[in-house]
Amino acid sequence: NGLDAETKHLVQKREEELGPAYRLFYRHPVHLVKGKGSRLWDADGEEYLDMYNNVVSVGHCNPDVVAAITKQASTLNTHTRYLHEGILNYAQDILSTMPDEIDQIMFQCTGSEANDLAIRVARKYTGNEGVIITSNAYHGNSALISELSPAQGLAQPIALTARMIPAPDAYHFEQMGLDHSPSAQELGEWMAGKVREAVADMERHGIKLAAFLADTAFSSDGMYLNPRGFLKPVLQAVHEAGGVYIADEVQPGFCRTGDDFWGFQRHGIVPDIVTSGKPMANGLPTSMMAAKREVLAPFATTMPYFNTYGGNPVCMAAAQATLNYLRDHDVLANARQTGDALRAALRDFATTHPVIGDVRGAGQFTGCEIVKPGTKEPDTALTLDILEQLREHHVLTGTCGINGNVLKLRPPLVFTFDDVDFFMDALGASFAAVGA
Ligand code: PMP
Repeated sequence: NGLDAETKHLVQKREEELGPAYRLFYRHPVHLVKGKGSRLWDADGEEYLDMYNNVVSVGHCNPDVVAAITKQASTLNTHTRYLHEGILNYAQDILSTMPDEIDQIMFQCTGSEANDLAIRVARKYTGNEGVIITSNAYHGNSALISELSPAQGLAQPIALTARMIPAPDAYHFEQMGLDHSPSAQELGEWMAGKVREAVADMERHGIKLAAFLADTAFSSDGMYLNPRGFLKPVLQAVHEAGGVYIADEVQPGFCRTGDDFWGFQRHGIVPDIVTSGKPMANGLPTSMMAAKREVLAPFATTMPYFNTYGGNPVCMAAAQATLNYLRDHDVLANARQTGDALRAALRDFATTHPVIGDVRGAGQFTGCEIVKPGTKEPDTALTLDILEQLREHHVLTGTCGINGNVLKLRPPLVFTFDDVDFFMDALGASFAAVGA
């Protein structure tokens, strides 16, 4: 299928050695060998703009982070059963970015582990089992969290103790019985109503609510960050039902939204538990679960916790260097300004390209919904064709949403105004190539 011999060889070797669960992006796979800032290079020396990778929040191979990793790796790396300042200094520093009530933190390696621990903590604290999630959420791949991650598809059963509610899709406001884009109050009340219905259904089955687990940016659901504040009534409904609110900040945390350090802050809420991972250490496996100490206590006072690699000195050095870089270079403002410029350019482009139904987001988190012109019906096939064309025009990105028709534009936070122009040129050429 038109692939060169080297690409074909690597694809075959991968299939043979790693097995069929490993999926590649693109009909024409990309073989990367180098990265810097927002750019990547393939084995043929071709340069790409990375619009996908939220892990390398402060840029591919950020020199400060590389230096911190190198220094610590050549001094000491061990586990958390010995005293070490690195973990304590970082814990204090990262907790200082959160509301005062959230005052204890534990470290893991992946977002899946952080969410897994959060659910165990929530169940122990409430004495309940039930969990509410959104209908195309992804929270991770452990046995427990897979059952709370409907985005994995129909082959993955959802836990009998879980209930799914629809995502806060303000674009399709008709589903809320509205004839206009909802206010924060309207959207929040609608979603809180869905939480109450889910709680009632659980209770009919003898299950009580332990936790509401949501990605504050609803990224895998399709990127719903606005209007600010709509999660307030939801948090209230969760607390009324006796559950705890777990903010999965794997996607919106660490300045991604351009407005606040944490995604939950755009809603003016204080969650009971906060989890994060991906962007924490710019690529080293590092994640966290922070909680109010009274929520953590029933679990932590009865159950020892050890995670061999979680919180190790090298990962903590990488996390600290990442946090320092975010602050010292005002990456928050850069994410807001370049993100606003990207969305303004996309909205302008949309006036002459009616397949773009909606452009939404905040900071460097932009969703671009592809529809059949004049309707809000998803055009999944066209979205995939655009994605493939973008790759041919040297832009790497992905899709999200329950219908896979939302272009997910989520570059490293060190994105530049030149990158906006590069992307828009590639988008124009890609739309022309697919006749959209
Ligand atoms: N939560 C969210 C919202 C995520 O997007 C992801 C990963 N895409 C995870 C949790 C799981 O993180 P990990 O892959 O590090 O286990």
